Amino acid sequence: MSCSGEIVAEDQLIQIKPMISDQLKKAKYGVSDHSTVGLCHWTKKSFKHEGNCYKHKFYGIQTHSCMEFSPAGMYCENRCVYCWRPMEFYESMKMEPENVSEPYEIMEKLMEERKKLIMGHYGDSRSDKKRLDESLKPSHYAISLSGEPTMYPKLPELIKYLKSLKETKSIFLVTNGQEPEMIQKLKQENALPTQLYLSTNASDYDSFLRINQPRYDDSWERWNKTLSMLKDLDTRTVLRITLIRDYNDQEEMIEGFAKLLEQSSPHFVEIKSYMHIGRSINRLEHENMLEMEEVRKFSEKLVKQSRIFSIMDESYVSRIVVLQNNKRNIERFIQTYANTN
Ligand code: SF4
Repeated sequence: MSCSGEIVAEDQLIQIKPMISDQLKKAKYGVSDHSTVGLCHWTKKSFKHEGNCYKHKFYGIQTHSCMEFSPAGMYCENRCVYCWRPMEFYESMKMEPENVSEPYEIMEKLMEERKKLIMGHYGDSRSDKKRLDESLKPSHYAISLSGEPTMYPKLPELIKYLKSLKETKSIFLVTNGQEPEMIQKLKQENALPTQLYLSTNASDYDSFLRINQPRYDDSWERWNKTLSMLKDLDTRTVLRITLIRDYNDQEEMIEGFAKLLEQSSPHFVEIKSYMHIGRSINRLEHENMLEMEEVRKFSEKLVKQSRIFSIMDESYVSRIVVLQNNKRNIERFIQTYANTN
């Protein structure tokens, strides 16, 4: 149903190319038109009580009932060197409103695809059936699976739709900062996610180009515009720094990152090592990953430089440290935060 009420004809809808769609399905993605859904590695482990993801540890989200998806499955304006997705096949074109599916159509179809991915786990005797049942009605949405979700022009309606579902407790959105207008639209339409992540992996223009390989000529200005909006957004904000050895982990980078933290004053900062997985192994070496001790050291130096942040927690297995903003201190656990805000 388009904004003018007509059903968008199948041939008008943006579709992920059949060849790519087949590869994604082989990799256990669900695909529907221009959207993708997946069962995260941690969600599968949590079905068997074999552990939860670091977002459960840091913020209390329910890993077993997390739905990881993207309404812009194969659309992105950047070609980040550390991306584990098949970004070589990404499209960069604009997603026009008249050529995309409506939010409820996307969610209905992706929920069906996701159900198929979950069904197989009922046959595994190690799976907790109660958790599987609960996972069929997600309480947490991670809008980040692949591509850049803010390219989807109906993102405000999509987030409002998810908020209207009674099981929904939290919605995380990860952006590369290339669509500041969409962040403004989310704000104006009161459709901000529970927690907004800005991918932050360079504190200077040259490193930004080298790591993100952006398509827009004004990509650095776009990213900085999104960064400058964070402190005025009425929601939880996170800078996610992905450290890549010999790309952005040098001592001299810390001062630049500290300035970004001061400028944007996010509630949390996640400092994570690049992980040598997926398609990124064709672009980077195993040696480009940092050891947990190196991530800790970088985080401690950043805390010292930034002065308003302190180390809140860490996850060894995910090679990540999270900082909390002492000047904009909020309850870290979402459920408690939601009940008090
Ligand atoms: S929040 Fe992220 S890491 Fe945790 S289960 Fe969901 S997709 Fe996986």
